[in-house]
Amino acid sequence: MKAVLFEQFGQPPRVQNVPDPAPSAAGVVIKVEATGLCRSDWHGWMGHDPDVVLPHVPGHELAGTVLAAGSQVTRWKKGDRVTVPFVGGCGHCHECNSGNHQVCEQQFQPGFTAWGSFAEYVAVDYADTNLVALPEELDFATAASLGCRFVTSFRAIVDQGRVKPGAWVAVHGCGGVGLSAIMIATAMGANVIAVDLTEEKLAFAQEMGAVATVNARASKDVVGAVKEITKGGAHVSIDALGSPATCFNSIANLRRRGRHVQVGLMVGDHARASVPMAQIIAHELEIYGSHGMQAFRYQDMMAMIRAGKLAPQKLVGKHISLDEAPAALMAMDRFEGIGIGVITRF
Ligand SMILES: [Zn+2]
Ligand SMILES: [Zn+2]
Repeated sequence: MKAVLFEQFGQPPRVQNVPDPAPSAAGVVIKVEATGLCRSDWHGWMGHDPDVVLPHVPGHELAGTVLAAGSQVTRWKKGDRVTVPFVGGCGHCHECNSGNHQVCEQQFQPGFTAWGSFAEYVAVDYADTNLVALPEELDFATAASLGCRFVTSFRAIVDQGRVKPGAWVAVHGCGGVGLSAIMIATAMGANVIAVDLTEEKLAFAQEMGAVATVNARASKDVVGAVKEITKGGAHVSIDALGSPATCFNSIANLRRRGRHVQVGLMVGDHARASVPMAQIIAHELEIYGSHGMQAFRYQDMMAMIRAGKLAPQKLVGKHISLDEAPAALMAMDRFEGIGIGVITRF
């Protein structure tokens, strides 16, 4: 099969012919029909993720059809249209048994713990626990865009953030995670403030439902601006980018007893960001992470998509080919373009 492969961290990946994958006993092989481009792939390529073993094929936001199933798989067969969350739970550890597959102790992550979906085919383990059937009306490109940023934002807003109707929600960073969070929080009845560096992304954020915006390049005081708009601070705030500045602002702009959810990755030099701990104590702030979402939680999200309350297809940006993927991957840290780029030609 054709796959995007890199042999050294930070060196240009190339499209190469590699052996076709075979399913594990509990896994499947999926014919990839669409796979999203994500900054996490860029981190993996740069060597920021300790799970990545060289040589490596990136790609973790995928949708496609089941091509072959292992001997222990009972729920899936050839031809099924499916997607997966980027964190796949093993289905039998303590965390999985408690319903928290997103923090499984033996988690399977395509494109990180194994070769990923920048390829014609991808092997996915623990299929019965993690595969999600696609509704007929959901196209592959939109389905692929769900698996990482959209589901992580859904969990961040709904399960971790516990956003209530009427609440003020600040979203720092309007890339794929941020735009997803804005759409989902708006659907939950919240009032969303979008924060970003460019007017172009802030305008798109307003189209996704943001009722106010703060340009972090033009404003000297992002925290003050959010507190002014909300008359006291956000009830829930999301760092959708992952940087020391957005993390700090997202906590500092909360009202008393507010809730911060860190979604943007903090790796490499940013792994130990400073936080306003005195404020966290005095105002009883809550600090959460959000890391993917369990496959069984897709049901509620899919219901909102089918009902038209969530429209993830609006977040799909450019469609590109596998041959164009190496250059696109190497450029992922430059925040270019709007929406989620998807490989749909193999
Ligand atoms: Zn991703
Ligand atoms: Zn597990």
